[in-house]
Amino acid sequence: MKGDIPFLSLSRTTSAYAAELKKAAARVIDSGHFLGGGETEAFESEMSALHAGAHCVGTSNGLDSLRLIFRAMLELGKLTTGDRIIVPGGTYIASVLPLTEFGFRPVFIDSDPRTLNMDPVAAIRGARSARAILTVHLYGNPCWHPAFVELARERELMIIEDNAQSIGAHAAEPGLLGQTLTGTLGHAAAFSFYPTKNVGALGDAGAVVTPDQELAATVRALANYGSDRRYHNIFHGYNCRLDELQAAFLRVKLRHLDEETLRRGRIAGIYSRAITNPQIVKPHVLEKGRQVWHQYIIRCDRRDELRRYLADRGIGTDVHYEVSPTRQPCYSVYTATPLPQVSRLCATMVSLPIGSATPDEAERVAETVNSFV
Ligand SMILES: *Cc1c(COP(=O)(O)O)cnc(C)c1O
Repeated sequence: MKGDIPFLSLSRTTSAYAAELKKAAARVIDSGHFLGGGETEAFESEMSALHAGAHCVGTSNGLDSLRLIFRAMLELGKLTTGDRIIVPGGTYIASVLPLTEFGFRPVFIDSDPRTLNMDPVAAIRGARSARAILTVHLYGNPCWHPAFVELARERELMIIEDNAQSIGAHAAEPGLLGQTLTGTLGHAAAFSFYPTKNVGALGDAGAVVTPDQELAATVRALANYGSDRRYHNIFHGYNCRLDELQAAFLRVKLRHLDEETLRRGRIAGIYSRAITNPQIVKPHVLEKGRQVWHQYIIRCDRRDELRRYLADRGIGTDVHYEVSPTRQPCYSVYTATPLPQVSRLCATMVSLPIGSATPDEAERVAETVNSFV
């Protein structure tokens, strides 16, 4: 009898780098610096080098990164409370929370069932009355359109990226800096290093990346009680700092990012080749650009039956996401927003093991999916 295949084993992904992580932890313990030290500084400059030299501010998590970006844009007068902001209806709730927190009006955009991202054409249409677009690169798939650049240049729309799920991905078309790498496409990008993400900390961590020096300085001040220097507070700020231990762990994980992206691509390649069940719709593979396979999501009309069938055979799956933000109790004011594609995807999507799966496991998952009749 072969062993079970977990949807995701964090002990497996962590043990692969255990020796380096323990060395990093020892370095921090011996240094006596736990916040705002050399590890955070080095991590920020490594992230910056990775992202076309844009400024990087380490933060406490992905949600706080988004909160800091929007708050900084308010402080700098780039956005005003009450502004409409374009956001995908099918995103994770953390993309929406900062919008409502600051009194922006979310304009929810339906999904493109091919890419599972926000439909960019609907986003452009909705952007006529909006001040900003929050583009979310869901599941490792860049969500970008050349018209976003025009909207930014001609109508001064703010373009914010939620890059929590897509570090290292490339869009087919360049962004504002002329680069295709996600996180460099718009005015500012939020990253999450939650343990299950492609680059995972051993706890909570995040980052803001932006080419705008003033925005970066404002985010940095806001994340540190609103102080631009010690005991000098220019904003009613927060405490949203990255700590030295997580920064040291993240430096290890960042060094292995290419290898991790290749590993995910290999698993996705096995699924895309080996799954042949006609009841299954496989995910779109980009012709141009690069997707980083945060999730491998198939669709099936009998989704719940399929999940039970796989679970009975020792295969773990998950759903990202079964309930969209507008169907959450806290967002009942938006429940009537018509998002037919989002609703349909929520009922048919299933995520297969990819975060810690081996090629042999992927072959076995594919065979089992094929045997579901
Ligand atoms: C994980 C995630 C976040 C939030 O990141 P945290 O670090 O968990 O706060 C935001 N947006 C998306 C799309 C995410 O997947």
